[in-house]
Amino acid sequence: MSETPKTFQLPLNQLDAPAHQLHFESILDSVPDAMVVTDESGTILAFSRAAEKLFGYTAADMIGQPVNRLMAGRDRANHGSYIDNYMRTGERQIIGKGRVVIAARADGSLFPIDLKIGEAKIGEHCLFTAFIRDLTEQQRSELRMQEMQSELVHFSRLSAVGTMASALAHELNQPLTAVANYLEASRDLLDSPDPETREILRGALSEAATQAVRAGEIVRKLRSYVSRGEVDTRPVSLRPLLLDAVALTKTSRDRADIPVIITLADPVDKVLADPIQVQQVVINLIRNAMDAMAGRENARIEIRALLPEERGFVEISVCDNGPGLSPEIKETIFKPFATTKAQGMGLGLSICQTIVEAHGGTIRAVPAPLGGTCFQFTLRQDTGK
Ligand code: ADP
Repeated sequence: MSETPKTFQLPLNQLDAPAHQLHFESILDSVPDAMVVTDESGTILAFSRAAEKLFGYTAADMIGQPVNRLMAGRDRANHGSYIDNYMRTGERQIIGKGRVVIAARADGSLFPIDLKIGEAKIGEHCLFTAFIRDLTEQQRSELRMQEMQSELVHFSRLSAVGTMASALAHELNQPLTAVANYLEASRDLLDSPDPETREILRGALSEAATQAVRAGEIVRKLRSYVSRGEVDTRPVSLRPLLLDAVALTKTSRDRADIPVIITLADPVDKVLADPIQVQQVVINLIRNAMDAMAGRENARIEIRALLPEERGFVEISVCDNGPGLSPEIKETIFKPFATTKAQGMGLGLSICQTIVEAHGGTIRAVPAPLGGTCFQFTLRQDTGK
């Protein structure tokens, strides 16, 4: 049988000194935030169990030590003058207000904390109690949010490409109409091959060639706009990158229930990549797969990463069990404006190819074991060298 917990029969204000001490110690043991009590010289008088865990010191290590050992930078150097200033002027900088500061663990590592200080006057003396909350996790998730947001900005830029399409169509229309006109005129001129006409013909054909180059230039500019030019690669863990990409494709409700299964072969870990650009590739491939399988029963997408035969690379494949590539587009899917979709721009795969190649990899489409299509691309493996 378990022992009945002991309860104090007396109201708190009637406890004797040893009982007060016991009560205080039980608070130090159980208070969830780290708690540090100091006197007015900044000497530590009490150090809670949570503080031991947070800072990596034992209470025995810290009692009697100056509290600035837990601080970093300017605060560590100036703590003495903060207290002096408060004792002299009574001006509250932090007491009762709370502030985010940087603290130092026993192993020297620094971390952000939310610090709140309470004050107790006992006779002539002051006791300060600091309540400390570790903000490492919060800061990490804020950083993550910021990253996600910048990704979203990039995606909205990508969707701005949609809006750009009409402007682009307009721009391309001009050189392409010119090409068509010059070629038609040339065809008609072929019927009268006198030297003068041949000269005009030559001029028209070279003009058509110039206009065709111009059209190509417009497309090239668009591609570099979307893929943001230079890539800035760094070692990135593949799994979180893929998980985030999948999460970003699940934002529309009709797609949320198509299962996406990620499998990473054991030795696959980090790749050298610009994570946002590579996510853009993965998102594009997933969206295409989802489009291809719209309305199908048992639709599923499998993403796999493995080390291919070619050393120094990681191969990522995005496979679906959709209908496979349409024969009429099979050879041209990576070319700009190749699309079978009524609303499609045919730019997605060409952008994917630009990004993958800028990373030093390759991309291709093959029939999938599941019966649909597999897009496979490679990225350089991070070998830590
Ligand atoms: P868009 O999606 O605007 O058509 P893309 O360049 O991304 O442009 O794709 C080009 C074409 O490739 C698509 O229109 C489609 O015909 C084909 N395609 C791409 N992915 C798949 C897939 N997973 N299954 C079948 N066809 C696909």
